[in-house]
Amino acid sequence: MREFDVLVLGGGAGGMMSAVYAKRRGLDVAIIESMMLGGTLWQIEKIENFPSYAEVSGAELAENFIKQIKHLGVEVINDEVVDVDFSAEKKVLVGKKERYSAKSVIIASGLSYNKLGSNEDDFLGRGVSYCAVCDANFFKNQSVVVASKKGSGILGAQQLSEVCSNVTILDSEDMTTYQKHNKNSKIKILSNVKSLRVLGENKVEGVEFEVGDKKEKFSTSALFVELGKKPNTALFKDLKLDENGYILTNEYMETSIKGVFAVGDIRAGALKQLVCACSDGAIAGSRV
Ligand SMILES: Cc1cc2nc3c(=O)[nH]c(=O)nc-3n(C[C@H](O)[C@H](O)[C@H](O)COP(=O)(O)OP(=O)(O)OC[C@H]3O[C@@H](n4cnc5c(N)ncnc54)[C@H](O)[C@@H]3O)c2cc1C
Repeated sequence: MREFDVLVLGGGAGGMMSAVYAKRRGLDVAIIESMMLGGTLWQIEKIENFPSYAEVSGAELAENFIKQIKHLGVEVINDEVVDVDFSAEKKVLVGKKERYSAKSVIIASGLSYNKLGSNEDDFLGRGVSYCAVCDANFFKNQSVVVASKKGSGILGAQQLSEVCSNVTILDSEDMTTYQKHNKNSKIKILSNVKSLRVLGENKVEGVEFEVGDKKEKFSTSALFVELGKKPNTALFKDLKLDENGYILTNEYMETSIKGVFAVGDIRAGALKQLVCACSDGAIAGSRV
């Protein structure tokens, strides 16, 4: 079993910032990451709301973060954590390759977005987005579409309507009651939409779908997939979670188990954004 002062589970922005703060305090820190350091950053085409950048790609930001991690000498372990044991003072993370233990663990394993399951992956970052708050501004004064299930896209549509010319919610369920009471003239909602697919060459140019027996098509610049999110908390059943499965923490990012912290998208916070994940990481890394 390999031993450290601090183990960070997940190498996205939240995990890397946690490691930066802990390492600069002279602690022996390792990040365990199953894919690539950077996490969700690699999926982001353009970012306009990260401090000090007018515009930056997620890839550029990820590369800068990685340089910082290497510069500080944080150990990066490529392994997937498949089990945890937080019952003793030494916390244990069980990887597919090895077991690791530390006095403190910072969980930074992010969340997964529910997918439409059609051809949306082919257009990711080229008109398909999972984040209305993040990407609305790139479609200013344009027509956009929201994929929704039982109203899951309403909040995103409202955010989009502040900057887009009009927003059409394509909901897979019956939403006639919502449509009747909808007072936002920029939002239109279609019910019982099935088989939604993106149309376009290199970027989103339209969508096609079925309503009953009818096939429909229309032009749009973007499809926002707002079908809900799932925090990656399957391993953390012993921690207190909120009703949506996010890890509850106090203001110091401490969870319900002493020595276990949670940061970034996986924790029950109001806003799932890069600056928030970094801020969480700074707090946890200073506290471990
Ligand atoms: C399309 C899109 C656009 C966005 N645009 C913006 C934007 O413009 N501005 C903004 O501020 N935010 C934006 N966001 C949100 C932002 O990306 C997230 O809030 C942020 O990246 C969360 O960081 P994190 O460290 O919590 O998680 P993540 O970046 O998701 O990192 C989690 C990491 O944990 C690893 N991991 C998970 N489970 C395990 C395991 N069992 N073992 C080992 N490793 C594991 C994963 O591989 C991953 O690398 C966007 C998100 C998306 C999806």
